[in-house]
Amino acid sequence: MNQKTGDPEMARDVNKALILKLLRSVNIISRAEISRKLNLGKVTVSTIVNELIKDNLVVELGKGESLKVGGRKPVLLSLNNSDKFVIGVDIGTTSIVVAIGNIKGEVLYKTRNPTTRNRSVENIVDQVTYLIDEVIKKSSFKKDSIIGLGISAAGTVEKHKGLISVSPDFNWRNVYITKMLEEKTGLPITVDNCTRAMTLGEKWYGGAKDVRNLFYVNVGYGIGSAMIIEGKIYNNHSEFGHCFVTDENVWCSCGKYGCLEAVASGNAIENIANESLDTKSESWISAKMVADLAIKGDTTAKEIFNKAGKYLGQAISMVANLFNPDKIIIGGGVALAKDLILEPVLVEYERNTMDVIKDDTKIEISTLGMDAGVLGAIALALNKFIFKPGIINSS
Ligand SMILES: [Zn+2]
Repeated sequence: MNQKTGDPEMARDVNKALILKLLRSVNIISRAEISRKLNLGKVTVSTIVNELIKDNLVVELGKGESLKVGGRKPVLLSLNNSDKFVIGVDIGTTSIVVAIGNIKGEVLYKTRNPTTRNRSVENIVDQVTYLIDEVIKKSSFKKDSIIGLGISAAGTVEKHKGLISVSPDFNWRNVYITKMLEEKTGLPITVDNCTRAMTLGEKWYGGAKDVRNLFYVNVGYGIGSAMIIEGKIYNNHSEFGHCFVTDENVWCSCGKYGCLEAVASGNAIENIANESLDTKSESWISAKMVADLAIKGDTTAKEIFNKAGKYLGQAISMVANLFNPDKIIIGGGVALAKDLILEPVLVEYERNTMDVIKDDTKIEISTLGMDAGVLGAIALALNKFIFKPGIINSS
């Protein structure tokens, strides 16, 4: 292990990351409080805070309450929310969402656009570039105030190479997306897989804020998964959707049969619905239409959700039995159906999970809806270009 514990530069980077993390969590704090909470010397705190002020990342707000009667009132500090910004981009097959956030992570501007029909790499890169320019123009922020951009993309992503190695949704292979977009936009860029980005979105904005161990399931057209382990996003692949769950002769997009994705995803719900629902319409029935029919009382539509939820709940109970996370969040397009999918999941979860685990693993539907990806992309950019949580072993 190449640990440079005595390296002063590394120690300063660690302390800077700790101070920024603290500022993000408490919002307003004095230098003395930082020193006390992080157990750091006053000179160290003062030097780093002065650097952060010089870099326009932190501002002094004025005098706060004195800690003791007659004592000097400390100057309060906060992250600078009006000078530097990041952009998050969620590249999906149906829509591309672009948002600007300040360094507190507050979303200031957001736009959702249908994805262009021609899904070649060049076309999508051109569309994303155009939308980024548009967002900067419309928000009237100066381009040089944008410090970086985070991308949430479907498929297998090698984050450190900026590479989408395989994207079944777009039919792409080996796309160096960060390099291409950096050349087009002139901005520094980071990318991650959409489900890991959504999980980060949950940690920053959603139900995973204070959760140490999380299992996140993204039930969209496919089924993706990601984990937070001891407060940190787990960066290895997590292919929950391709766990074998049934001997039914159902083939999956991965080429195997009996996968969870083949029986519980949005695609599976649509396929089953189009084979079995008695509709007068000749057109394709979407998963959203199946959900609407189920809510109106259509028993076949309800049964389709029940069956998808049954498989999902059985698979989730296996994860709970193995991993005992603090929470399991179900997100993605199918999760918009809320109780329709959650109720059958909970029945199976209740039936198949050990009591000792059931007691402390909560299951929830995501509260972020379809914004989880773009929020995660903003958090990705903030982590990469400002907070650098990897230094302090956090996310
Ligand atoms: Zn599969």
